[in-house]
Amino acid sequence: MTPREAVAALPAYSAGKPPQAAEGFTPYKLSSNENPLGPVPAAAQALRDVSTLHRYPNPGAESLREALADQLQVPFSDIVTGAGSLGALTQLISAFAGTGQNGQKDEVIYAWRSFEAYPIVVRTAGAQDVAVPVAEDGRHDLAAMTEAVTDRTKTILLCTPNNPTGPALTHTEVTEFLKTIPQNIVVVIDEAYFEFVRSADPVDALALYREHSNVVVLRTFSKAHGLAGLRVGYAIAQPAVTDHLRKVAVPFAVSAVAEAAAMASLSHIDEVHQRVETIVQERDRVASALADAGWAIPETQGNFVWLPLGSASVDFAQAAGAQALAVRPFDGEGVRVSVGEPEANDRFIQLCRTYSGRPGLS
Ligand SMILES: *Cc1c(COP(=O)(O)O)cnc(C)c1O
Repeated sequence: MTPREAVAALPAYSAGKPPQAAEGFTPYKLSSNENPLGPVPAAAQALRDVSTLHRYPNPGAESLREALADQLQVPFSDIVTGAGSLGALTQLISAFAGTGQNGQKDEVIYAWRSFEAYPIVVRTAGAQDVAVPVAEDGRHDLAAMTEAVTDRTKTILLCTPNNPTGPALTHTEVTEFLKTIPQNIVVVIDEAYFEFVRSADPVDALALYREHSNVVVLRTFSKAHGLAGLRVGYAIAQPAVTDHLRKVAVPFAVSAVAEAAAMASLSHIDEVHQRVETIVQERDRVASALADAGWAIPETQGNFVWLPLGSASVDFAQAAGAQALAVRPFDGEGVRVSVGEPEANDRFIQLCRTYSGRPGLS
């Protein structure tokens, strides 16, 4: 069978692997940026209490959107939910970028390396991806992204903090960037990890969406809320964008259990923030231990660290695997390691102290 041309040429998405057993080691999965603490107890309970499994869920996840609208102080109609923020992003790209009647492809600009799903979502829609290399320090090269804009550009994806390299954009940077971008180009701010940011000038994406009709904020319950297994995320944008998003919505994308758990998590947001703070402290502990051990890694603002190991990436992942730590290698580039349980982080730190294959070390 022959799939569409765009699909035939796609790279396969490779999800983070589970850890392999190793004698004497408790296995830990540090390969998918999951929340090691899990959801708040109220969220786990809420999904057990759902008694309408034989009914279709709310078509537009109305209850969850009402709760979000109330908490974020945005209009209900400016929120579009999806099966994870990846679901919301897929919806957005399919609404705004593809192949035109004349056979010309719309262009979608993003930084690279960034979230592995971007090229797949963009190319599946029939659009052309334009990958702008991140700078040496793992940060978006916003000037180069502005320069990459053409009259075919339909959408720009900003990932902050950037998965997998770690740094977050600043509010000043994004504000200045938006001034350089034509108003008819949709600018997505993918904030999958915004809860973990501790910087002096954090992006206030909601303020940017209020000011700009072309800005879309993407958020998820997968990371800070610890609900990756349920698949729930959302986009926030003005009607100029959401009117089109609704046309391509997958009906019932958010399940009844996902909606119930997400609402319970929102109503215990202080507890969620406490858990996030615990992970942030572990992250900072890991980052400073690595710095003490002589590793130069990019600033990390998410729940993961990036080791720019280049050609040693796969070897490092194998060394971690031998100690039952699953990490995420990107061959020839680096290794992303999620912040996990303290024991997992200790083992990872110890491995970094003793690992001898680092390029540049003799
Ligand atoms: C994890 C992640 C997402 C979203 O995941 P969902 O589980 O689909 O909500 C989106 N963007 C980035 C950059 C991520 O790392």
